[in-house]
Amino acid sequence: ACARSLRSRTSLRRTAPMLRPYRRGVVVGTVLLVLWTLTTLAGPLIVRFGIDQGITPGNAAALNGAVVAYVLVAAVAYVVYRGQIRVVSQVGESFLRDLRLRVFAKLQRLSMPFYDREKAGVVVSRMTSDIDSMAELVQMGFLQFVTNVLLLVFSIVVLVVVSWQLALVCLVALPFVVLASIKFQRDSNEAYLVVRDRIGGTLSNLQESIAGVRVIQAFGRETTETRRFAERNRVLYDAHMRSVKVQAWYLPVIELAGIGTTAAVVGAGGWLVSQGTVTIGTVTFFVLTLSNLFEPVQQLSQLFNTVQSAGAGLQKVFQVLDEPVEVAERPGAVDLPERGDLVVDGVSFAYGDGPPVLHSVDLTIPAGERLALVGPTGAGKSTLAKLCARLYDPVEGQVTFGGVDLRDATARSLRQHIVVVPQEGFLFAGTIRDNVRLGSDGATDADVEEALATIGVLDRFASLPDGLDTEVRERGSRLSAGEKQLVSLARAALADPAVLVLDEATSSLDPGTEALVEGAMDRLMGGRTVIVIAHRLTTAERADRVGVVDAGGLAELGTHDDLVEDEGRYAALFATWSRGVPT
Ligand code: ADP
Repeated sequence: ACARSLRSRTSLRRTAPMLRPYRRGVVVGTVLLVLWTLTTLAGPLIVRFGIDQGITPGNAAALNGAVVAYVLVAAVAYVVYRGQIRVVSQVGESFLRDLRLRVFAKLQRLSMPFYDREKAGVVVSRMTSDIDSMAELVQMGFLQFVTNVLLLVFSIVVLVVVSWQLALVCLVALPFVVLASIKFQRDSNEAYLVVRDRIGGTLSNLQESIAGVRVIQAFGRETTETRRFAERNRVLYDAHMRSVKVQAWYLPVIELAGIGTTAAVVGAGGWLVSQGTVTIGTVTFFVLTLSNLFEPVQQLSQLFNTVQSAGAGLQKVFQVLDEPVEVAERPGAVDLPERGDLVVDGVSFAYGDGPPVLHSVDLTIPAGERLALVGPTGAGKSTLAKLCARLYDPVEGQVTFGGVDLRDATARSLRQHIVVVPQEGFLFAGTIRDNVRLGSDGATDADVEEALATIGVLDRFASLPDGLDTEVRERGSRLSAGEKQLVSLARAALADPAVLVLDEATSSLDPGTEALVEGAMDRLMGGRTVIVIAHRLTTAERADRVGVVDAGGLAELGTHDDLVEDEGRYAALFATWSRGVPT
């Protein structure tokens, strides 16, 4: 409990600075909140005045004054209530907007090791359900929470000040109400968690059966599926009913406590009136104010869960914001030279706490050389390639370009000089032109066309009905795997890097596109240092040198001809390949 309160205090301390831009709204909102609470308390006090000073002594002026005051207070309450909803919600929504933006920007900056550790679904939930849990609080909950706390505290103070004897009668029931509320809060929280859990289960059941509807119908399993769903549905119903049961005992208990206390106040009040200790107005005042006592307790216990889950959400969001960027730019980083050798020097690597993946690899790739990496799956080829582009930092050793350790390079020059083309070309919603333009900030239309022309594929896209302005989303299904690769190669051509790290696609393409992709790759590689993870015999054959990666080390390194002559692993691999590929 101590740790939790400490954590919520840290969250609170960090939230405060984020509200600084909305200081005015916070101040105005607080003032309005207090004002509104005061108007709520003023009503019964005015009634008390009207009875004691107006009705009882038969003073018409005092009674009229009380009525006018009551109406005025009601009018003020109306205006203040409207204002507070608007101001407080605006501050809350602005806070959420800023928070979403911060999380998004942070997610964009976080490096590969983070994405290896975290599941995509969990990362997305930071932006959705965690922030949503705060939205619920921000929209109405926060307002209710604060007004109820204020109302409760102010009411107790006013009751005690007006008549401590009657206040004592009221407060007898309060401890029981508070105890019942705490129990309710616990039980309903538990019941609520079960409901949420089961909603998740029902949803995933639904999603699976919709995704698999073809299989279900093909095997005539509709009834079985429905029966399976009925079971889940029943379980969800049970969970809901349990939470209803919790409410069913709690709400009437509070109601009963309110009625009981009112009866006690009227009884005790009547006696005190006959003793001349209190006035009739005071008793009426107490009866009217009692609702300000029990309702807040009841609402607070219901709101408590909202506040708790919002707090939990906020903490998780802060965790993302606190996540260190592992592959970050050093202070005093320098730009990489335009050209240079890429040197892998005694590099060892492991993913997170995982087993070692590379063992002290040494490799020098002179400027302009084309190196093909081959080897069995899981040997570490991609890992080596990723280290050469500093998607990860080595655990031991260093990777240098033109003598500069990649860890000392500025992020901008690093991404300018060394570009990775992933296996699957990823396209974003937008036109083909937009997708190529991603390769370089501020590239003109002419630059984009030139990049496409350089790799010899401009005609392929320009001949589409909408040309380069073709939307890839709309054509997503019609843009073939090969075409996607062409776009991704054009992106790299536009970036015009000194070093290219290519992961060749394993999937086979249709023969027409295959030739086009091969040609594009050849042109793209011209005049650059290239590290290509080769899945095709021809790619390895055409490289200047071939490196065989096996079990996290460089087993062989040499020209294609030398390696074939040596009759080692590459020769064996080559033999298998040649047999498999009809030439
Ligand atoms: P290759 O490219 O030769 O198939 P990789 O470099 O992809 O081999 O993988 C080498 C080893 O590292 C494999 O055992 C693989 O399971 C592991 N590995 C690859 N990527 C990750 C990752 N992101 N997180 C954890 N382990 C990984």
